Amino acid sequence: MNQPPPDTGTPAAAPAAEPRADCVLCGEPTEHPNSTKGATLCPVCEWQEAQRTACSG
Ligand SMILES: [Zn+2]
Repeated sequence: MNQPPPDTGTPAAAPAAEPRADCVLCGEPTEHPNSTKGATLCPVCEWQEAQRTACSG
């Protein structure tokens, strides 16, 4: 008997559940890791802040 070793293949690497920091304004999870220093904003609030600061100065 000449049996080849079983092909285990490559298991799909599931992305690690990285803890996300909450938005300081609305509390929604941001795309920043929890270890981010300072205020973290979700994409929506980041956009709103960008719009706000774009008009000042
Ligand atoms: Zn937000």
